[in-house]
Amino acid sequence: MNEDRPPLDPRTLAAQALGAFEPESHAIVPPVHVATTFVRDPDNQYRSGYIYGRPDNATVRQAESLLAALEGAEAALLFGAGMAAATSVVLALDPPAHIVAPKVMYWALRHWLTNEAPRYGYPIDLVDMEDLAAVERAVRPGETRLIWVETPSNPLWGITDIAAVAQIARKAGAALAVDSTVATPLLTRPLALGADIVMHSASKYLNGHSDVIAGALATARPDSELWTRIIALRARHGAILGPFEAWLLLRGMRTLPVRVKAACESAADLAGRFARHPAIAQVLYPGLAGHPGHAIAQRQMAGGFGGMLSVRVEAGETAAIGTAARVEVWKRATSLGGVESLIEHRASIEGPGSPCPPDLLRLSVGLEHPDDLYADLDRALRAANA
Ligand SMILES: *Cc1c(COP(=O)(O)O)cnc(C)c1O
Repeated sequence: MNEDRPPLDPRTLAAQALGAFEPESHAIVPPVHVATTFVRDPDNQYRSGYIYGRPDNATVRQAESLLAALEGAEAALLFGAGMAAATSVVLALDPPAHIVAPKVMYWALRHWLTNEAPRYGYPIDLVDMEDLAAVERAVRPGETRLIWVETPSNPLWGITDIAAVAQIARKAGAALAVDSTVATPLLTRPLALGADIVMHSASKYLNGHSDVIAGALATARPDSELWTRIIALRARHGAILGPFEAWLLLRGMRTLPVRVKAACESAADLAGRFARHPAIAQVLYPGLAGHPGHAIAQRQMAGGFGGMLSVRVEAGETAAIGTAARVEVWKRATSLGGVESLIEHRASIEGPGSPCPPDLLRLSVGLEHPDDLYADLDRALRAANA
């Protein structure tokens, strides 16, 4: 490789999946490594670097290398789900490590943190992560070991100032982990802003085709005790991603930059148009000048404000559910970050105790033409309000 060459753009790295080909046949598409075990050398060594399929797999490593490159990380680990990745960060801490997490965040993880983590001996406090004074008050020096951030956060798309929270974490001796699922490695680089760990549900944008459940962690400090423990946990718990899923994920990541760019452009276009719609009371999208996190998002996100937005239906919950019932192009489904656009009455899936307003519809913008998406939702809004 030419040492003088300027660093390659993420789009180039992704399209070629780092440019590796299969060394024996020179196949341009890497194979799926399915073996669970590996042959020892005659002198009893394991020089290939592989021993058994539960701790490690070559196809998984290939996808991890691409993700690490896109994230500007030194190392990445893939898990069988985003939830397995996130919970591994917590379980790698010695109880009674205190955790500070946001009040508004991905629902299933918030539920695990508040209902399950305390049973493992991890006390937790939920705070308004956009209020730095509140974060500072919640941190207990010497006891808080982890601050968890999600930005933009589900389903209101609030923006947390990663660099500012990183300072609070550093002062308290706590690690900072950032769920960057919605920002993707293209729009925000949490490690460069001071985070210790970045987490992704790879089921979303990274894979992008609604056909793989996977999770990822990445770090700039692979020698840290926390990372070493996470590696050991993944191996012992058997939480590694399967080889077929890793292969699909690698294939999905090749188009990540072009998919994210298109989703950002369409989401920004739709956010602007729906902000003027008579049946919509409010559009929640960090790209809008009136969004409370817009200034931080402008600093912290490069190349777009993401493909996720929510709209609050003026006439209330019944009209919101009625709108979702009438769309045809948007698909009524949970999840996000796929090529097809999804709509969801979020309060229905989160259930009691959810901070999600009942009149809110969450929109995941895919790759369809934005005019088709606008016309479909406009028609459904009008019919639901008639
Ligand atoms: C989906 C999601 C998760 C959980 O990931 P799974 O792959 O479904 O386990 C975590 N955080 C965010 C922001 C998500 O959207």
